[in-house]
Amino acid sequence: MKQTNISVFVPHIGCPHRCTFCDQRTISGETKAPSAADVRNVLNEQLPVLRERGMTAEIAFFGGSFTGIDRDYMKSLLEAARDAVNNAPDVYTGIRCSTRPDFIDEEILDILCGCGMTAVELGAQSMNNDVLRLNERGHSAEDVERAAELIKRRGLSLGLQMMTGLYGDKQEYCIDTARRFVELKADTVRIYPTVILGGTRLGELYKRGEYTTFTFDETVELCAELLTLFDAAGIPVIRLGLHASRDVEEKMLGGVYHPALREIVESRIFFNEMKSRMEQLGSHRFTVYTDSSNISRIVGQKRANKEKLHRLGFDFTIKQENGTRLRIENAL
Ligand code: SF4
Repeated sequence: MKQTNISVFVPHIGCPHRCTFCDQRTISGETKAPSAADVRNVLNEQLPVLRERGMTAEIAFFGGSFTGIDRDYMKSLLEAARDAVNNAPDVYTGIRCSTRPDFIDEEILDILCGCGMTAVELGAQSMNNDVLRLNERGHSAEDVERAAELIKRRGLSLGLQMMTGLYGDKQEYCIDTARRFVELKADTVRIYPTVILGGTRLGELYKRGEYTTFTFDETVELCAELLTLFDAAGIPVIRLGLHASRDVEEKMLGGVYHPALREIVESRIFFNEMKSRMEQLGSHRFTVYTDSSNISRIVGQKRANKEKLHRLGFDFTIKQENGTRLRIENAL
């Protein structure tokens, strides 16, 4: 059965923080906060649609600080979700939310667990305290560790979110962050390369020439390393890059945003593996065996991998082999 998310965006109105990358005006000013009745309506409307498609869904409260919003309001939203799960457990299989690490404590977890929460995602962004301080996150890496431990102890699925290329960030800090996520036994991860939006502190720094993020190519290479690291640890990366959005496209001053970022990063992983294997084999013409589902990523967007390898003196033809990820042999 296919699984999906019914996402409910809950803006953190009156958020006291000033994270450098966040356009609070967009988040809190122009986005209407959904009422419990709105949530019930959406879930009721979606129920027959999901049933007809043979799908199950998690109800996901996103917006960054779900457990920091007004307590009664939060409870009313959770009750709407819990009722949907109780009434249609064959379709609505769980509830998840995202929040800040410093908005998690035992009392909050009592409320979440009491309403049937199944997964909590923490916006950690970085495990480097200098990066967190420079980006005015208002929490430390130790807060992430403490919150992660509390979430795991309740038996909830732990999601951790990281950003790359924040103010003061370095590639090695991002790799360290990923390693810490593995040690914290994250169940899922999301990776968001920084997008510099107008109206943010990062936007001001960028315009004054005091900040720039990693280049597109550096980000692709870094994310290839991060995906490989999480894959080796058996942790699914459930999102890489911001969702396609006209709002982001209009407000973006710089940074890394591409609707097909994940495909490009996965393609880079194949490129790196193919280059290394071809160098080992020490020849110039190869046959690449792979499942049909990998062919576009092996060839690369606009044949980028094929052409880059050609410039390095390597040519290959592809042969489909069901179930094979990547196998390379010298061409006869
Ligand atoms: S990203 Fe930071 S500033 Fe923006 S809503 Fe979340 S906590 Fe507040």
